[in-house]
Amino acid sequence: MSDCLFCRIGRGELGTQFLLETDQLAAFRDINPQAPTHILVIPKKHIQSLADLQPEDQGLMGDILMAIKSLAEQEGLEDGYRVVVNTGPDGGQSVGHLHFHLLGGRSLQWPPG
Ligand code: 5GP
Ligand code: ZN
Repeated sequence: MSDCLFCRIGRGELGTQFLLETDQLAAFRDINPQAPTHILVIPKKHIQSLADLQPEDQGLMGDILMAIKSLAEQEGLEDGYRVVVNTGPDGGQSVGHLHFHLLGGRSLQWPPG
C-alpha cells in the first residue's frame, strides 16, 4: 500500500511535522481538528483497520497506547481526553490505514452521533 496517504505520511514524504516518532509509529496533528488537541497516532506499517490486526501486532498496539499517554501529558490534558479508533464503514473510518485519534482540550459529549 505504498500510495496509501498515511503510509506516505509515516515515511515522511509529505513533510508532516511529527509530535512523536519511533521506527514503528508516528504522531501528527489532524488536518481538520475537532478539538483543541486532535492528534493522530499511526503504525508506520500498513494495517487497514483495527479489524485487520494480527497477533504479532500486539506489542505495537501497546506502544501506540503508551505513546498516546505521553502525548496527552505533553499536551497538558490533565482533565481528561478521548481516544477513538473509527473502524470500517459503520464506524465512520474515512482513511484506510489504522489510526488512533487523541482528542482533548474541551469537554467532549457522549454518545457520538
Ligand atoms: P477517520 O475518519 O478515518 O477516523 O479519520 C481520518 C482523519 O484523518 C480525519 O480526522 C481527517 O481530518 C484526517 N486527515 C485526512 N487527511 C489528512 C492529511 O492529509 N493530514 C492530516 N494531518 N490529517 C488528515
Ligand atoms: Zn497505509
